[in-house]
Amino acid sequence: MARENSYLSDKHIGSLKDLLMAEKENILNDRKDVESYSLDKNELADPLDEASVNIQTSQELRFRNRKMFYLKKINKALRKVEEGVYGLCQDCDVEIGFERLMARPTADLCIGCKEESEMNERNNFHMKRSKSLGQSLQDLSK
Ligand SMILES: [Zn+2]
Repeated sequence: MARENSYLSDKHIGSLKDLLMAEKENILNDRKDVESYSLDKNELADPLDEASVNIQTSQELRFRNRKMFYLKKINKALRKVEEGVYGLCQDCDVEIGFERLMARPTADLCIGCKEESEMNERNNFHMKRSKSLGQSLQDLSK
């Protein structure tokens, strides 16, 4: 079986790609916002507010890290579009589905695998049903 996006039409791929590009654009523009926002804040600097500014700065950093992480996911998804494997589950090769991709264009797992991985995150005791069973057991004994 060929690993192709036969279930996604060119038009669908096109709108998903647009979505990814728009998200990317958003993130890149957002970073500028954060920087100019910080400048504004310095003008209003108040020693009493220093603590809350620090908290805000670390929140911004965390927020920015999360955005960088998301940006990487977007780039990965765009690369998959180029390679013609976009929209297929990373774990089981199942079609992720157009609706799910429109809601979450960076999704790289199908609903089933996503739920499974979230379950694993919440509870290490929950075993993956297939190939990684041995791996999960090893993880547990660490
Ligand atoms: Zn899957």
